[in-house]
Amino acid sequence: MIKSNNPYTQEELYNIEELNEKEINQSIEDADQAFKSWKKTKFSERQKLMLNLAETLESDKKKLAKTITQEMGKPLSQAISEIEKCAWVCEYYTENAESQLADKIIETDAQKSYVSYEPIGVVLAVMPWNYPYWQVFRFLAPQLMAGNVGLLKHASNVMLSAKKIQELVEKAGFPKDVFINLPIKSDQVNKVIQHPKVKAVTLTGSEKAGKAVASEAAKHIKKSVLELGGSNALVVFKDANIDQTLETCVQARFQNTGQSCIAGKRLLIHESLHEEFVDKLITKVKDLKSGDPNDENTFISVMAREDLAEELEKQMQKSVDQGAKIRIGGKRDQAYFEPTILDDVKPGMPVFEEETFGPLLAVTTFKDEKEAIDLVNQSNFGLGVSLFSSDIKAAEDVIVNLEDGAVFINELVKSDPRIPFGGTKTSGYGRELSDDGIMEFINKKTVYIK
Ligand code: NAP
Repeated sequence: MIKSNNPYTQEELYNIEELNEKEINQSIEDADQAFKSWKKTKFSERQKLMLNLAETLESDKKKLAKTITQEMGKPLSQAISEIEKCAWVCEYYTENAESQLADKIIETDAQKSYVSYEPIGVVLAVMPWNYPYWQVFRFLAPQLMAGNVGLLKHASNVMLSAKKIQELVEKAGFPKDVFINLPIKSDQVNKVIQHPKVKAVTLTGSEKAGKAVASEAAKHIKKSVLELGGSNALVVFKDANIDQTLETCVQARFQNTGQSCIAGKRLLIHESLHEEFVDKLITKVKDLKSGDPNDENTFISVMAREDLAEELEKQMQKSVDQGAKIRIGGKRDQAYFEPTILDDVKPGMPVFEEETFGPLLAVTTFKDEKEAIDLVNQSNFGLGVSLFSSDIKAAEDVIVNLEDGAVFINELVKSDPRIPFGGTKTSGYGRELSDDGIMEFINKKTVYIK
């Protein structure tokens, strides 16, 4: 049985039976059958359905957002924004997929030679709970537009959202079985990967889950894309505009109650700004409205599960034992964790080395640009980094020295359908969104006509 409780009220939300092996195999066969005709549909047909899906998301957004809030405690206003973003990614691929996948003519000695971009078939998506709709839609929109079909293994605590996503796809008019939700536990994922009709897998989640899924895929020579954890740095140089930077750093760390892979988890601040900046940050953090996620004014609420809050508490406590100082917050009540600033953080402490998946900002000072770059690159993660400076040219010169998958200047690292998203090092490999995302599960077929 797969169970979940509302993290704010503690009430049980569901207790559903997972699919058995026979049912899983039947779903895979059904998806493969659907692929046979879906891959032949015209872009105009796919565009019509994808636009219907965007419209359905928009019109049902309040209802859908409530499910997110119930399942993982996301404040309602942020849950509504999540659904709106899903509609945006559907619109983006409606407009762009056809040109992104147009044949590419290449001049050779042949009469004609080109690359044809063709779908590969059934792709499995293993997804996390932190953006229960967005994570799925950034897979679903490009892959259905490309002519692939999808299977979803969603996180165990957001199975209602998973079911609703399948219903939305059906309501938009897509043919049966082009997108199938599999209510299964993680120990059944390998069976799906092993199935000959499953061609590839994408996973968004932790390093541990990424390793398990990627090694199983490799055993069967199947492609994988991994979007894993992050410990993004917010690097504040001494010429940064303090007020704007403060605002951006608070958003970067505390939105979604700190549970985002691309959250700015480590604040690296020039030593000359340290005192003033942290004092002002504390005032801002005090003003964040914590409380009931159903209240549209709430900004911080409970974390998605109590065990995740306990884990964050352990990371904080070990770091404090090693010399870090709590400047604000630091207390936990069940799944609620106060917005926290931990100062005097040094490399080697858990809050510096590990991913902190909750509302805790770790502050470390640096003396010069070289030390800042070393501190950024010292992390095993490589999802993204934000640089804050009023000298854009100087900040741009730093980019080449950074190992991350994304660098944002004077802005928080964010995902946007138009630009590629993905990491380096233990943050994973492959890209989602933009032209790069739609190309991940494509047979780039070379055609040569003598
Ligand atoms: P998780 O525990 O790794 O779970 C992610 C998904 O993987 C869930 O569906 C989970 O199923 C499944 N899973 C877990 N262990 C597995 C295994 N051994 N084999 C197959 N599947 C397995 O991560 P989470 O706690 O849901 O999400 C938080 C993590 O995701 C953080 O590290 C965060 O940084 C990362 N994340 C990354 C991105 C990105 O784009 N890079 C975006 C968002 C989140 P169950 O729920 O049934 O265990």
